[in-house]
Amino acid sequence: MRLKADVAILGSGFSGSLLALVLRRLGRSVVLIERGRHPRFAIGESSTPLANLLLEELADRYDLPRIRPLSKWGTWRAAYPELGVGLKRGFSFLRHGDGEPWRPDPEHARQLLVAASPHDAIGDTHWYRPDVDQFLANEAVSAGATHLEGTEITDLEWTPGGARLTAAAVTVDAAFVVDATGPRGFLHRRLGLGERAFRWLPPTQALYAHFEGVERWDALVPGDGAPPYPVDDAALHHVFDGGWIWVLRFANGLTSAGAGLKADTPADWAGLLRSLPAVEAQFATAKAVTPFVHSPRLAFRSAHVHGDRFALLPSAAGVIDPLLSTGFPLTLLGIQRLAAAFEKDGTPSAESLAAYADDTQAELDATERLVAALYATMGHFALFKRLSLLYFAAASFSEAARRLGRPALAPGFLLCRHASFGPDSAAIAEAILDGERGARIEARIDRAIAPFDVAGLGDRSRRDWYPVRADDLLAARERLGASEPELHGLLERCGFSAAV
Ligand SMILES: Cc1cc2nc3c(=O)[nH]c(=O)nc-3n(C[C@H](O)[C@H](O)[C@H](O)COP(=O)(O)OP(=O)(O)OC[C@H]3O[C@@H](n4cnc5c(N)ncnc54)[C@H](O)[C@@H]3O)c2cc1C
Repeated sequence: MRLKADVAILGSGFSGSLLALVLRRLGRSVVLIERGRHPRFAIGESSTPLANLLLEELADRYDLPRIRPLSKWGTWRAAYPELGVGLKRGFSFLRHGDGEPWRPDPEHARQLLVAASPHDAIGDTHWYRPDVDQFLANEAVSAGATHLEGTEITDLEWTPGGARLTAAAVTVDAAFVVDATGPRGFLHRRLGLGERAFRWLPPTQALYAHFEGVERWDALVPGDGAPPYPVDDAALHHVFDGGWIWVLRFANGLTSAGAGLKADTPADWAGLLRSLPAVEAQFATAKAVTPFVHSPRLAFRSAHVHGDRFALLPSAAGVIDPLLSTGFPLTLLGIQRLAAAFEKDGTPSAESLAAYADDTQAELDATERLVAALYATMGHFALFKRLSLLYFAAASFSEAARRLGRPALAPGFLLCRHASFGPDSAAIAEAILDGERGARIEARIDRAIAPFDVAGLGDRSRRDWYPVRADDLLAARERLGASEPELHGLLERCGFSAAV
């Protein structure tokens, strides 16, 4: 079989299929080539407010009304009850000492709870990827993309018209190739793009599976005050000296759980649980229903992310760590940028691709630096919490600015292109990586956050439990350059009104 297309997209995970949909809306012919077959297990499940907003922006700009419901828990459940999903109301961080039981903690010294939504209907989600990725691939096919599953590309050669991709039973000629095959993926290996050394992140590994029978934390530890949202309806993070464990609960009875570990922490699930008695209790009746996956080298950066007629999506260009659920927003930003380049240039120009690569690497750098500093403070939880507020400040400010139609206020993921926040947050992370601890660096974090705080993050009386409150946003109107009626309009549009 011989096929010809404007664009060949390698990999029909969520990113490849979503880009295929967008490109079909732009009138491009697309061949989507997938080595495996849907439905298939995939890791990377927890969305964020910014990821959901980027999904909404894509749906609105490229007329994808069937995708838009996936941007909120309530609309997702109403539109697609058959697609596996979990409710994510925020980020829950709990700190555990080696061998220590959990103790009541009225000052929340071992907790950080940051809500991302004021009520369930507009909550974020965990994507059950076997369902979601199959749905998106089917949508791409309905939009006219050719989807080749079970197709392993064995060769690639450049031709005057673009690229020729060869598999056992098919040859595809395409003017442009997008790699959405994930870290250490096809083009990275085939073109020998080289790895970019990590500047800040220590070597890390991951160990994960899907489980059934995982107990709810709030059933095990009742009466710990009135948290801003149910602690389990979140990305629940158990943090300890050697790394952290995630617990993401789907509504279908399954739970995704795994660990991001420093290199010298043994990747032994039962051993980890034994050292963390409270977490062990949460998994006392749990059973893994998929094989454990061990990634001995979790993080990855490709030295190059584009060429004359190809680009790697951010998820193929690098993976840092799931600690802050950064994979989806980084990838969605990349999809937006590539889509804009196709829109502007026909086929992305050298200039657009160079800008795309520069943004991708800068955003992966900013993510790497912050996550590395967080790994360095896992044993200093007060500083870990304060430092992570840099992420929450940047994310909530970016969301508010974009929702107000002022994206220029929030340039770059984590505001990394912002004239003050970018360099300030970089310098803070580097100082922490150089070993700085104590009140001075905490005060520096507070000063960096203050001009961008739209979520009451500077209010210490909240004792590290942060609800989403309309009055915090209204109080930040000058930071956003917005009037009160504008902010009320934003809250109304977002379905926030129940909380005003
Ligand atoms: C342990 C872990 C946890 C994570 N958790 C989160 C999280 O909670 N939140 C978040 O935002 N991000 C998370 N991420 C990042 C997230 O996984 C990625 O951003 C996301 O999976 C990217 O999706 P994708 O469709 O680009 O790639 P993938 O989901 O990796 O899909 C790639 C597809 O390409 C196919 N493929 C591979 N090679 C070939 C080939 N040669 N030819 C054709 N097809 C090929 C594969 O079969 C697969 O279907 C996590 C990452 C890891 C490693």
